[in-house]
Amino acid sequence: MIRYGQQDITQADIDAVVEVLHSVNLTQGPAITRFEESVLAYCGAKHAFAVNSATSALHIACLALGLGEGDWLWTTPNTFVASANCALYCGAKVDFVDIDPRTYNLCPQELEKKLIKAEKEGRLPKVVVPVHLCGQPCDMRAIKSLSDRYGFRIIEDASHAIGGRYRDEPVGNCRYSDITIFSFHPVKIITTAEGGMAVTNDDQLATQLGLLRSHGITRDPELMTKPMDGPWYYQQVALGYNYRMTDIQAALGVSQMTRLSEYVARRHEIAASYNNLLSDLPITLPWQHPDSYSGLHLYVIRLQLDKIKTTHLDVFNYMRSKDIIVNLHYIPIHTQPYYEKMGFKAGDFPEAEKYYQEAISIPMYPTMTDAQQNEVVDVLRAALQQ
Ligand SMILES: *Cc1c(COP(=O)(O)O)cnc(C)c1O
Repeated sequence: MIRYGQQDITQADIDAVVEVLHSVNLTQGPAITRFEESVLAYCGAKHAFAVNSATSALHIACLALGLGEGDWLWTTPNTFVASANCALYCGAKVDFVDIDPRTYNLCPQELEKKLIKAEKEGRLPKVVVPVHLCGQPCDMRAIKSLSDRYGFRIIEDASHAIGGRYRDEPVGNCRYSDITIFSFHPVKIITTAEGGMAVTNDDQLATQLGLLRSHGITRDPELMTKPMDGPWYYQQVALGYNYRMTDIQAALGVSQMTRLSEYVARRHEIAASYNNLLSDLPITLPWQHPDSYSGLHLYVIRLQLDKIKTTHLDVFNYMRSKDIIVNLHYIPIHTQPYYEKMGFKAGDFPEAEKYYQEAISIPMYPTMTDAQQNEVVDVLRAALQQ
């Protein structure tokens, strides 16, 4: 069986985890800081907060930016539901911006059109969440310049993109955003089983993220609103959550980080090889913007349905029947029943819907062998000839 994504756990990872299990701190210990520092060193941001999932990171990022009732958050429909749900957790409303037909990322031209209209109607978004789909960075310069003009804040959902680069700088340096979030779910580029992180360069946002991650509680006298009673003392100064990552997970993260560049480089090798092996087939290969060095979390092909006799569903079923566990990223969020109840409907975001009719994520992970890759290619070739 060849899955679309697969984690890589080495003996060094296992040793790192076991070491924490033998130590005093299973949580709230030194491995958290080590993991945060290793991600900061890699991506070049100033502050990092490890949390128990990217979904939690998105939630506290929205809260830190003051998103609440009456506010709007805009994102792409072509993402995992968490990129939009975070707004609903805060009592805010969600809207979507259609995708670019080449990168499949949130389209800056569509964003601008929608902003012009929203300004007239007095419903500009407070937060926009660009998602670096498959690891390919969005057009962040264009999105940032719109944010300067229209006053919205930016959370980069880089769940797919750790290890990627935009205009020769690492994803996560927050040059074009307020906060960047990462996911460490096992299918992502590096893993902590469950886990996520929020990074920022802004000191005030950092204070908020730190509080929100752990109950809104502080032991820092500077953040307290009245004098300390004694050495046992802490103060709750905000309503936060328990979104903490454990040291067991963080130790795994530190160990995985040492292989991040290697992983992404291997993903690029696999992609180059797919580009070569699949070039004669009636499919559209993933286009890479010259400004981007993708993290290549996913390798998405699009079927050219007018050139083949078979259907999208049949290609899927055929490949899965041959134990090639392909997948589809993503079902347009606005067509989910929960979102349809808010008034969204099929036809609202045609590029994302067209993509959904054609897209298939074929296996892509760093430990995939050449033989496995050839098998994927052979099965896909056969599937298209049905
Ligand atoms: C995986 C993913 C998330 C959620 O990540 P978790 O760590 O599982 O909460 C959010 N956004 C995108 C784009 C993702 O791929």
